[in-house]
Amino acid sequence: MTAERRLTRAILALGSNLGERKGTLQSAVAELVDRPEVRLQNVSPVVTTKPVGGPDGQPDFLNMVIAVDTTLAAKELLAHCQSVEQSHHRTREVRWAARTLDVDIIVYGDEASADPVLTLPHPRAAERAFVLYPWSLMEPNAILAGKPVSELAAAAQDMAGISHAQDEPLERDVAQEL
Ligand code: ATP
Ligand code: CA
Ligand code: CA
Repeated sequence: MTAERRLTRAILALGSNLGERKGTLQSAVAELVDRPEVRLQNVSPVVTTKPVGGPDGQPDFLNMVIAVDTTLAAKELLAHCQSVEQSHHRTREVRWAARTLDVDIIVYGDEASADPVLTLPHPRAAERAFVLYPWSLMEPNAILAGKPVSELAAAAQDMAGISHAQDEPLERDVAQEL
């Protein structure tokens, strides 16, 4: 008999600032949860954000976060996220350059790791409103690094560049999968 693998709650952050941004996020969420080892638990609203770092003159991002329960190990989940990025033709030539799709693991249970291949929690998440703000809308009581994510979002330098995406919110479409 094989032992059942433990379910771990993970928060994934998605961003897109090239191409059909909203369609990309929509299909990326569907692809991320399109396997039995990953179950969608929650979906944030989509926010529009000004690019942080990277080359000048980039288009605005659409950002969102999702919560999943998964039996995948952390590195298996990273590989899965990267395969979904690849299916959206993500390239990596210049650091923080415009991209069709970025999927980061923000937290994986309460695992802490300094491994550069997979650092947990994500080493820059606690100062990024484009992650923290949608997360706080999805889970108002969430905590990161011992602080409420809403408090961290309010203190983040990029909070001023964030607004709600205007059109039909993605969560209504995706909510049917929950
Ligand atoms: P940032 O990490 O600042 O958000 P980025 O998302 O643009 O920048 P990428 O080029 O997508 O950076 O990723 C670079 C590497 O970061 C990946 O190859 C991956 O191995 C590593 N990495 C480390 N920790 C994480 C994490 N928590 N989630 C996703 N990737 C991570
Ligand atoms: Ca990122
Ligand atoms: Ca990334």
